[in-house]
Amino acid sequence: MAPAPTVGVLALQGDFEEHLDALDALDVPAAPVRTADELARVGALIVPGGESTAMAKLMDAYGLREPLRAFARSGSPVWGTCAGMILLAERIVEGRPEPLGLIDMLVRRNGFGRQVDSFETDVDFAGLDGGPFHAVFIRAPAVVEIGPAVEVLARLDDGTVVAARQGNLLVTAFHPELTTDRRLHAHFAAMLAVRA
Ligand code: GLN
Repeated sequence: MAPAPTVGVLALQGDFEEHLDALDALDVPAAPVRTADELARVGALIVPGGESTAMAKLMDAYGLREPLRAFARSGSPVWGTCAGMILLAERIVEGRPEPLGLIDMLVRRNGFGRQVDSFETDVDFAGLDGGPFHAVFIRAPAVVEIGPAVEVLARLDDGTVVAARQGNLLVTAFHPELTTDRRLHAHFAAMLAVRA
């Protein structure tokens, strides 16, 4: 049997360790990705939460921008959480940092304002068995507009989109790696298994 394909986690900045731990807990082969060579060795990639400006700078300094675009455009699954969602977006309201321009959405950084800087709530996630997902939002981005090819997977009670998918691209505004619920990591690993 061929070895299970590895899920990479972009490990430039932010909470990549928590994603690696989550994958580990599921026995999904996982590896940090910091270079184009390391990216070439994985079948899927998580872009974690953190600080999108810092991550974008490091991405450019490490020459990863074009390899990341090519990786996603080749159909490999890519999941952006929080700052990762900002980086995957087609456009961001503030114009900076320059996102990768992959998923057809307009995103506003720190989109929930100061009063609700960070909050937690249960969301219904389309296609996920086992009930609502407890979602942790930390200075989270808000989805302002989505294109027709984007499928909404979860919304807040007020209708705000907090998870979506466009083909091989998955985004969540919240941080599934900060809870012990591994269902979304399993869901993402399954996107790779289907492709592999
Ligand atoms: N507010 C951060 C940014 O703009 C994202 C926060 C997060 O990833 N938890 O990059």
